[in-house]
Amino acid sequence: MRATRSYIMESKTAINRTSSEKLFEVAKTYFPGGVNSPVRAFKSVEGAPIFMKKGDGCHIWDEDDNQYIDFCCSWGPLILGHNHPSVYNGVMNAMKNGASFGTPTVLENELADLILSRNPFIDKIRFVSSGTEAVMSALRLARGYTGRKKVLKFEGCYHGHVDSMLVKAGSGLVTFGTSSSAGVPEEYANETIVLPLNDIDALRECFEKQGSEIACAIIEPIPANNGLLLQEKSFLKELRKICSEFGSLLFFDEVISGFRVGFNGASELLEVAPDIITYGKIIGGGLPVGAYGAKKEIMAQISPDGPVYQAGTLSGNPVAMAAGIAQLTECAKPGFYEDQEKRTKTFVESINAHASKNEYDFEMITIGSIFWLSFAGKKRIQKADQIDPNMDLFKYLFAELLDRGVYLGPSGYEVGFISQAHTTTYLEIAAKAFCDSLDAIYK
Ligand SMILES: *Cc1c(COP(=O)(O)O)cnc(C)c1O
Repeated sequence: MRATRSYIMESKTAINRTSSEKLFEVAKTYFPGGVNSPVRAFKSVEGAPIFMKKGDGCHIWDEDDNQYIDFCCSWGPLILGHNHPSVYNGVMNAMKNGASFGTPTVLENELADLILSRNPFIDKIRFVSSGTEAVMSALRLARGYTGRKKVLKFEGCYHGHVDSMLVKAGSGLVTFGTSSSAGVPEEYANETIVLPLNDIDALRECFEKQGSEIACAIIEPIPANNGLLLQEKSFLKELRKICSEFGSLLFFDEVISGFRVGFNGASELLEVAPDIITYGKIIGGGLPVGAYGAKKEIMAQISPDGPVYQAGTLSGNPVAMAAGIAQLTECAKPGFYEDQEKRTKTFVESINAHASKNEYDFEMITIGSIFWLSFAGKKRIQKADQIDPNMDLFKYLFAELLDRGVYLGPSGYEVGFISQAHTTTYLEIAAKAFCDSLDAIYK
């Protein structure tokens, strides 16, 4: 059943969000669009963004004391939920010793050891302060190591706001990119090649034409920034093969998937070994941390060992490292990811069963503890252009869920995240809110 596109967004007068509305008016005088990151602005769902003041477990509270079950989880980092006691204690203990030194600290060694002792794909790692910074640095490394200029990316993958990654496909199958943001010179965009996801023929054609110029192919092995575009394993395996054939590096951007679909991310889950990996989000336990890693010979190119320059005043910050150590220590415990996936599956399946029984044109797509709401009625969406660009239905569902105390990231292109704090009981409450909200928009 198609939902009626004439659903009316009534003002839900029963719920008071006046504090958020007032704060947003003030914020607009300080920040472009009233925010410090664009998707927070509620542009695609209407209304003022909700100002949160507190989180605990799977719940968050806004400035008007409304309570929500949170599936945004700070856009992924909070895999243990809000205010987890280990993370809290780790941060407070580190803070007592001082916020930053600009010297090496033992905490950097500890977080590196937690990761490298378990990770078969990388020998060395470098900590930075965001996912964007990790991608930017690792792209420089790929170019420095190979001595090549061009970078291949895939349409529908997000890699942070790095100049050369803010690029969309030009016309034609094998093409140079064109910049998708003002302020990015076409000359930069021209060094980026953009291909559709999950298309082995396009991949072959591209490498046969210009493989010898490609420093690396960067991909989200589980693309989760533009819907959830689950790729065929065979596509990623072919990508691995072609990169090796042409001497290009395979670059997995695991900023979302790393420590999310398994401790060693999508590389381990999908059994494809990349040459370079970036991490972010979960790695910092809710504080700003990113990282990139590779085998020894590639990492040897990084300064001060090698000629590829990269530095950071607050890189490896002890408070942030402590948060990362606390969080990843929990993630590394036996059964952690199996349990995450099991709860997520039960949640998703109960909502999908309701949608299917009522013939709603709606389906939740999931992997690990990630889910995405697809209104297209197609189970397998693998390419960016298969997503229905009309996000009205998401907007309606978002509003209905808010009024039932469920918070999602405010965009239909974004995925939802389930944390350890989303217990079966809370997931049952949330599932009921989903089913009732679907009834409200489809009936
Ligand atoms: C979030 C994200 C980034 C950017 O990370 P920031 O910390 O927001 O700079 C890069 N790549 C992927 C795959 C991401 O999900």
